[in-house]
Amino acid sequence: MLKKILFFTLILSCQFVIGQQAIDTVETSKGKIVFFSNRTWQFLKDKSFDGILNRRIHEIVKRDSLNFKQPWDNEVCYSSLRHNDMSRLKDTIWLCVLEEEHNKFHFPVDGIVTSRYGFRHGRHHSGIDVDLDVGDTVRSLWSGKVRYAKYNDGGFGNLVIVRHYNGLETFYAHFSKILVSPDQDVKAGDVLGLGGNTGRSYGAHLHLEIRFFDASINPEEIIDFTKRECKDENLFIHKGLFRPGAKPTDTIDETEGGAEIAEHIEAPVRQVRQERKKYYKVRSGDTLSEIADRNQTTISKICQLNGIRPTTTIQIGKSIRVH
Ligand SMILES: [Zn+2]
Repeated sequence: MLKKILFFTLILSCQFVIGQQAIDTVETSKGKIVFFSNRTWQFLKDKSFDGILNRRIHEIVKRDSLNFKQPWDNEVCYSSLRHNDMSRLKDTIWLCVLEEEHNKFHFPVDGIVTSRYGFRHGRHHSGIDVDLDVGDTVRSLWSGKVRYAKYNDGGFGNLVIVRHYNGLETFYAHFSKILVSPDQDVKAGDVLGLGGNTGRSYGAHLHLEIRFFDASINPEEIIDFTKRECKDENLFIHKGLFRPGAKPTDTIDETEGGAEIAEHIEAPVRQVRQERKKYYKVRSGDTLSEIADRNQTTISKICQLNGIRPTTTIQIGKSIRVH
């Protein structure tokens, strides 16, 4: 409830500062929070394109003396060369995930989440994995411009990176075929490539990352992977969104040598995924334990494969994966 009140206060107060390019300050029980209102968008037209799609976001970061870098580089996946340090982000940046001019979102591929963001087996997984078959079309989440589209030796395989008008970058990894070129404009839902199993990957899937100035954010902070839509048109960027001490690569291995060090780690769980997928169509009266028994598997395995909980109600007629 408090969160809601705070949010509405922000919206109201921000409306007063639009046009003045002022910074909004809000007193809360936790102290003073400075919000940079980026409601006044200034998109750079292609004429003198220097890689900046959202002038306002770049100005904010510059003004805060963070000295974050985000050059337009078609050759390296982390264009800041690990320069940006998210722990120095003292304030909160109000970012419009969707706004008037670029208000579309598209779910990247028709598949279920097989591995989430965060620590797995002592290593950090800086994206989310969505199941697919080789050759499935993978689409851009939002509109933007392709910054990188080529094979990546760091483990991503065939990788496409799109820089978006909302200030974020998205990484789409392991493609079997890339269908876009660097500097190409894309709209939300445009096909970027075909899903695959290239790079450090055990089984076809999409490895999807969302990054702000090269540092990864849990995609589930922004996208509801069950409803397949943006959770909110607003995103508040603050250092708590990034794991403590996060560097742009999110790697644990601090090996020297530039931006494209092998820090992309796929889940060992995928090594065992050699067998063919098998689905079961849910009928009236079915229970998860009956379905598990009938298909010689377990409830927890089914839950894991489908990203559901044992208590989740499954609709009749829906196909769930059992192997
Ligand atoms: Zn992954």
